Amino acid sequence: MIAPAGILRAVRYRAIFFDAGETIVHPQPSFPELFAQVVEHEGHPVEPGAVVEASRVVLERFSEAADDRELWTTSPERSKRFWVSVYERMLDVLALPGGVALADRLYATFTDRSNYALFDDVRPALDRLSGNGVVIGLVSNFEAWLEDLLADLGVRDAFGVRVISGIEGIEKPDSRIYELALERAGVAADESVFVGDNPKFDVIPPAELGMFTVLVDRRNRHVDHVGARIVDLAELPALLEAE
Ligand SMILES: [Mg+2]
Repeated sequence: MIAPAGILRAVRYRAIFFDAGETIVHPQPSFPELFAQVVEHEGHPVEPGAVVEASRVVLERFSEAADDRELWTTSPERSKRFWVSVYERMLDVLALPGGVALADRLYATFTDRSNYALFDDVRPALDRLSGNGVVIGLVSNFEAWLEDLLADLGVRDAFGVRVISGIEGIEKPDSRIYELALERAGVAADESVFVGDNPKFDVIPPAELGMFTVLVDRRNRHVDHVGARIVDLAELPALLEAE
């Protein structure tokens, strides 16, 4: 049964929390493509496929930062140190010359809010899921400027609860960040859903707390994922209605 457009049939969940990066927002046209544009502009032609491959460094560094509790989002200095380490490792993988100037150029590009967009499936999903007293929230490992980016993109107020690591000083997968979101929403873990693209941050910890988790696997990187998995947020309302 398909519910009428715009109306979410009764679901047992009282809150739905979303990750931000690569779940809601993305660099335009994409992280690897924007990276390649900057590097090429600086005089270093690269193969698009090689940049996609090298961009696995981002996930490696996210994982290392979590293991080492780097708290990379919590100040501009920490953010820059983290991202410059990502770019330098990617340039190394691509056998391109490193250097402060190129890493600085990349950092400036990826911290320019005008280089980001919402995925096309975000607004329709938010419209569909809002109402019925369901709290829509956001929990993100992101610098404090995510607030301004969400405002630029016209969706800040669509997220009634926002827990951004750069503002709160806590990063996923620290259980306190999910607990803070639950507390602000006034819901219990088993009444809530967590939706995101990174299993280590968006699935395992919230599931351990008792939240229902949905992996957003836009590039089919986790086809063997055990648990709810979607490739497009358009699938989310029906998935939650069926739960
Ligand atoms: Mg993400």
